[in-house]
Amino acid sequence: MKTLSDFNFKDQKAIIRVDFNVPLDENFNVTDTTRIEAAKPTIDKILKDGGSVILMSHLGRPKGKEDQYSLKHIVGETSKILGVNVKFAEDSRGDVAKNAAADLKPGEVLLLENLRFYKEEEAGDKEMAKELASLGDIYVNDAFGTAHRAHASTTIIADYFPENKTFGMLLAKEIESIEKVLKHAERPVTAVLGGSKVSSKITVIENILDKIDHMIIGGGMTFTFIKALGGKIGNSICEDDKLELALEILEKAKAKNVQILLPVDVVAADAFSNEANTQIVDVTQIPDGWQGLDAGPKSLEAIKKVILESKTILWNGPLGVFEMETFSNGTIELGNFIAEATKNGAFSLVGGGDSVAAVKQFGFEPKMSYVSTGGGAMLEMLEGKTLPGIAAIQG
Ligand code: AMP
Repeated sequence: MKTLSDFNFKDQKAIIRVDFNVPLDENFNVTDTTRIEAAKPTIDKILKDGGSVILMSHLGRPKGKEDQYSLKHIVGETSKILGVNVKFAEDSRGDVAKNAAADLKPGEVLLLENLRFYKEEEAGDKEMAKELASLGDIYVNDAFGTAHRAHASTTIIADYFPENKTFGMLLAKEIESIEKVLKHAERPVTAVLGGSKVSSKITVIENILDKIDHMIIGGGMTFTFIKALGGKIGNSICEDDKLELALEILEKAKAKNVQILLPVDVVAADAFSNEANTQIVDVTQIPDGWQGLDAGPKSLEAIKKVILESKTILWNGPLGVFEMETFSNGTIELGNFIAEATKNGAFSLVGGGDSVAAVKQFGFEPKMSYVSTGGGAMLEMLEGKTLPGIAAIQG
């Protein structure tokens, strides 16, 4: 399969699906430019070759054409980041888009209006995909966050570029990193699964059990397991309809020789509040009226040992309610352990919305091997699904 570097973009128009779904404040200023910066290497390569770039993206969830969701708000910031005066087409379809694309000269960048102003985008409409395809010579998909959606610009459009299609550098790196964990991992492989619920992670757990040696369970989902095993969990969060499932997971893990590490102690609080009274208690002996909100010191010791022995680490979900300082220690310590293992040569992949937020908040991003940008898309890959946006380029 061809990669971006196999193409010479000289005098070619690249139409790139990017994920510029960035947060804006009430004055329409971009408050986090990460996603625009992440697309820069791909855009730079094309411009350096002597090509031109047509950028297409969605922004938010508009119902038809709504000015607050217009991508015109990000033209200034995008120009600043790319160091190029970005042109803007006020429509992603019709003559406006066609003429703007036709006028584009080598070295120039054009941003199309929000694709989701048309319901045909999310419907995966062939006509819309064909129209978008007609604007460029080479299709590049660099939007991992939407790779699990068969939308006109993420998947269907690829049909019109039988040869001239490729992943951008960002998407290629995402796929490579996840495959490094799922397909070519150096052992021992450890998955850390935290967060609030077992139910949202169950398909991931089932898919990765065949590929890992250790599974560290933490965060709120701990208590469903502990209750299923007969422990007293006080007021801790628990999915009572998932107790059987928790036991099944433990059995499956045993059958597959996966070592499961559950917390042995927790920081318990008398309220779900940063100002609550706290005490360290045995995870199976949480008093009535108290709830476990973070990992305790003995649990962290055990986690540290496993992490430092691992050669591949997947981290999805925090170990506690890290948004409150009182309960952030476990997640910070876990970040420290993984950073140390990574420094010693392990490969670490962090993914899933909340762990990425935690990693950024506590400054661990540069200390991890890879931090995935696509929450839902990453989870679907971990669940073993083939993402339509990826298949469309590979096929
Ligand atoms: P998830 O989206 O399933 O990955 O869950 C992330 C959320 O789980 C975060 O917002 C954490 O605050 C929350 N969380 C982590 N540990 C606990 C806990 N022990 N009790 C309640 N919520 C938790």
